[in-house]
Amino acid sequence: MKTQHDTNESISLYDNYKINLKAKGTDEKFYFIFHERNLLLIDHQLPLLKELNELNLNEEDVNNCIYFGDFYLKDAYAVELSEEFNVEEFKEENEEINMEFINLYEVYDINEETYYLGGRAIQIIDWENNHQYCGRCGAKTVTSDIEMAKVCPECGFTSFTRICPAIITTIIKEDEDDLDENGNPTKKILMARHSYHEYPRYALIAGFLEAGESIEEAVKREVMEEVGIEVEDIEYF
Ligand SMILES: [Zn+2]
Repeated sequence: MKTQHDTNESISLYDNYKINLKAKGTDEKFYFIFHERNLLLIDHQLPLLKELNELNLNEEDVNNCIYFGDFYLKDAYAVELSEEFNVEEFKEENEEINMEFINLYEVYDINEETYYLGGRAIQIIDWENNHQYCGRCGAKTVTSDIEMAKVCPECGFTSFTRICPAIITTIIKEDEDDLDENGNPTKKILMARHSYHEYPRYALIAGFLEAGESIEEAVKREVMEEVGIEVEDIEYF
């Protein structure tokens, strides 16, 4: 697997991944295996296995095993282990294998591509778990054959994988009263202290978009709500 930390080029989710609805039945498959939202890595890499039971995983250990596309031309599965699954026993049973369940944020430092696709995998698991029943009529849903969607056989209502867009901002002020050695205004970043933390902790302003709002409008609103100032010259990165 290529590592991204060697280059400065930004990577895309789709560099080596393709959305697909029907598994090709490749001999080896990539498994994104989650336990309590932590991802299993073997030797710091995503497991590439012929079958899940290569790792002594049985049916009762697995809540969900969802095919979600091609990764490096191999079938990719999002797997959720049951809450009762015993990680310590699992590690003992596979003691010859160097394995670890890692928080997704930490996976970012190990392999950016695995992090992106791992994020997609966990959201697909959430979507599967949260759309078992139709939100309109309450009937049991089925997975669509033609798109990544849950369909209600009673009323036809369709639920797609859900995303929740959010913004995070860097608010920069050029301070005319504080010049640098060249006589130019210094640039200062506004950080906000959260009132609900016991210890002082400062963060950038961030928040979720409201329905119908543009990203820029969300920036203006969140900044006004959190620190009470009006911002201008909003640039998008
Ligand atoms: Zn329905």
